[in-house]
Amino acid sequence: MIKVEDLRKNFGKLEVLKGITTSIREGEVVAIIGPSGSGKSTFLRCMNLLEVPTSGRIWIGSSEITNKKTNIMKVRENVGMVFQHFHLFPHKTVLQNLTYAPMKVKGLSKAEAEESGMKLLERVGLSDKASEYPGRLSGGQKQRVAIARALAMKPDVMLFDEPTSALDPEMVKEVLDVMKDLAQTGMTMAIVTHEMGFAKEVADRVLFLDGGVLVEDAPPEQFFTNPQSSRARDFLQKML
Ligand code: ADP
Ligand code: MG
Repeated sequence: MIKVEDLRKNFGKLEVLKGITTSIREGEVVAIIGPSGSGKSTFLRCMNLLEVPTSGRIWIGSSEITNKKTNIMKVRENVGMVFQHFHLFPHKTVLQNLTYAPMKVKGLSKAEAEESGMKLLERVGLSDKASEYPGRLSGGQKQRVAIARALAMKPDVMLFDEPTSALDPEMVKEVLDVMKDLAQTGMTMAIVTHEMGFAKEVADRVLFLDGGVLVEDAPPEQFFTNPQSSRARDFLQKML
């Protein structure tokens, strides 16, 4: 579903990604972990060209998004993204947040968009908030709306950048539970997270980034019990 070949990204002279090669199969859930500043967000953002790679190639499905001829707007429709800080439309209701892009981009009728929007709100446990404005929701509720909004475009891939890092502790679980459900439906997911328990339980693979280098790429059982690099061992010691 996703293939990354020798991905490099510089910001000016700063080399943030130093040649990353990996792939993610359809239905696979990959946790991306590593110290702050190691390039996790940049890596994720390259996968839908929110950052333009300096060199290297990336495929989403059969489209090479690093090929200038590829219509990136079309690819982005297919790649849902969830951010740490939600990024909901504040002046739209919860349901309008979900129906906006499907109507505008995919040409769904209002009735169609609302019907599938309501189904998604049900799925994330927020049917009763359809007419509410984001400002009146808790952080956990906002993030569940953000996930539902991304799903409203029926993406093939979902990217999450620290989706629970801005939440009060008591709201983390409700968001992780929604993500766990989504993983069980077979969604292809790449998740930057500091939730080691979640990564252990839900991820099929862990990618450990350090200093812009993909240091480990292993199943969680192996990564958490027997990390191969001293950098991963040091990181885990601080985390656990
Ligand atoms: P992480 O998500 O692992 O904390 P990031 O990908 O956000 O790491 O950042 C990696 C490095 O790239 C950091 O040193 C950061 O300061 C730098 N960086 C990220 N985005 C930009 C940008 N837009 N311009 C310049 N430097 C950036
Ligand atoms: Mg980050």
